[in-house]
Amino acid sequence: MKIEFKKVGFNQKEITINDKNLQLKGNIVRDDKKLVDLDARLQGTMEVECRRCAKAFTIPVDEQLHLKLSDGIYRGALEEADVVEFYDGSINFEELMESERESMRLDYHLCDECKNKKE
Ligand SMILES: [Zn+2]
Repeated sequence: MKIEFKKVGFNQKEITINDKNLQLKGNIVRDDKKLVDLDARLQGTMEVECRRCAKAFTIPVDEQLHLKLSDGIYRGALEEADVVEFYDGSINFEELMESERESMRLDYHLCDECKNKKE
């Protein structure tokens, strides 16, 4: 799902996006001219690879996301939240979820078998 930046107002808008095995549910609201606040929960499951034996397995996902979505390149510096930039004037939620998925994939995962093997 995509939402145009110019259509996001100062009243909170509820969003629910389902993509593969994950659901993003929360609110977006305009922050300033270029920024939109996203406050949402990402829940579901995803497949990851074991770092030790490379076996694929499924993990549960439950993440609270606080992000600033920027309409184009963001030049300021924000301390309180990560900024995600979009370049075509709209928020692409599938893309956002894919990048969250990618960063979770890069975390250190061990399958149950390897976890129980004490070395
Ligand atoms: Zn393993």
